[in-house]
Amino acid sequence: ETKTYYSLRPNVPLPPPSEPLSITQYALYLLRSSTTTTSATTFLVDATTGESLSYGEFLRQVHSLARSLKTRYSLSKNDVAYILSLASLHVPVLYFSLLSLGVVISPANPLSSTSEVSHQIQLSKPSIAFATSHTSYKLPSNLRTILMDSPEFISLLNQNEDVADFANSNMTVYQSDPAAILYSSGTTGKVKGVLLSHLNVIAIIAGYYHVTEETDPNEGPPPHPVSFFTLPMFHVFGFFMLVRAASKGETLVFMERFDFKKMLKAVENYRVTYMPVSPPLIVAFINSKLTDKYDLSSLQLLGCGGAPLGKEVTLKFKEKFPNVEIRQVRQLGYGLTETGGAGSRVIGPDEAERHGSVGRLAELMEAKIVDPATGEALPPGQKGELWLRGPTIMKGYVGDDKATSETVHLEGWLKTGDLCYFDSNGFLFIVDRLKELIKYKAYQVPPVELEHLLHSNPEIADAAVIPYNGYWKGDVHQMGTFVDTVAEGLILKQVAPYKKIRRVAFINSIPKSTAGKILRRELVTHAISGNLSK
Ligand code: AMP
Repeated sequence: ETKTYYSLRPNVPLPPPSEPLSITQYALYLLRSSTTTTSATTFLVDATTGESLSYGEFLRQVHSLARSLKTRYSLSKNDVAYILSLASLHVPVLYFSLLSLGVVISPANPLSSTSEVSHQIQLSKPSIAFATSHTSYKLPSNLRTILMDSPEFISLLNQNEDVADFANSNMTVYQSDPAAILYSSGTTGKVKGVLLSHLNVIAIIAGYYHVTEETDPNEGPPPHPVSFFTLPMFHVFGFFMLVRAASKGETLVFMERFDFKKMLKAVENYRVTYMPVSPPLIVAFINSKLTDKYDLSSLQLLGCGGAPLGKEVTLKFKEKFPNVEIRQVRQLGYGLTETGGAGSRVIGPDEAERHGSVGRLAELMEAKIVDPATGEALPPGQKGELWLRGPTIMKGYVGDDKATSETVHLEGWLKTGDLCYFDSNGFLFIVDRLKELIKYKAYQVPPVELEHLLHSNPEIADAAVIPYNGYWKGDVHQMGTFVDTVAEGLILKQVAPYKKIRRVAFINSIPKSTAGKILRRELVTHAISGNLSK
């Protein structure tokens, strides 16, 4: 019987691991083999400002910035650069140039509070920070900081020195070198720095590059892919999707604050072909009269995640937009910061038919389903903790060997903290979360961190934080928490806004194990059945 699950995807060629290669070099090497992308092709569009960057201009800026950072700021291999910025055209340029120098990038959520930023900096120990005039006040004053919206930074992008000469004197970056430190709470409440190597990211890009959906040869050549990009650039998914798009020569249109009209305008202006959507957005497409004012004929595919779409809604949409396919999946895939974003993904309309599944095991990945009580590996159909192994698994948590060894098994297995099962066709289903993590949109909300803050107030006897809709069932899109005290005002200032307490309920006592651990699941069950009133 199957006890280890192997990826069913075709084998993916990886560059020889001993070959010196940075993520930047690898992406640009792949990009050069594109037959349809030229230096005039648009890479990035900021739909809010209307500004864009062509591939030619992007590469020029990447080289210019790398050169300036090396020569004027003496940045070199293994330095860490902390990045605190909203999405902008400058962020990908900065990532690519730092990575080409072997500098470790450490992007964080720009909504992080000052104390969260200070904790992240203690973990990653940066020698330089890149921020904007809106975020820099959160940084410690003794950290050398470059503002990305300053004339100084713009001038670094526009040095006209000889690029070829710089390429020759470039630093040798090995695939095993560290590339990024991303922040995640993993399976416990404490925020940790997830260290990814160049190889980790090269492996995930290789998978996405070589294994893509087959297009029907009878339909003629597909249009140049132009996607609406809604992922945060500091999150692992956003980061690798940026690198993936660059290696393919695709176009990404991003928008800092979502606006329906501006989005329609961007679809028309930039001929957007793909867009991730949620059911309410589909309803807006159906009901809005604005859609007639714009040419939306470029749209081909909408990937609908989150809540299921009703039949009637799907039919109405088809009536209004007969040429646009809606593909319904729970998510377009599953992954963790600790796996470099890789895990499973959904490729093609047939796989999307498997409702409720997060697709099949990603390229180069192995999995086990382990009984949390006995440690025994389980066959298809049985639920247990998902363990993953493959070249995208993180190097570890920076400066925390204990947490690393608790999470990554000696033989390379990463314990995901998610309760899952595989069906007999290799489709992965996520059933529940074993770890103490609430997800709000793409963001992590560790309940233990909030409880710790609540406990620090002498007027609060005890507190427990739980997801409003139960673990993962909807928490990705909608989250609320119950605490047994008036906590909203207290917590708001100390944490990022997405972590705020959304509901409060009072109870006589918090259920705990004999060891004093909060029985969070019990509270969640009460909340779902309505036994915890506001
Ligand atoms: P992060 O490191 O922020 O990407 O969080 C990883 C966690 O998000 C996983 O361990 C899951 O608990 C959850 N997650 C990721 N993808 C999905 C998905 N498609 N459906 C439900 N939960 C998911």
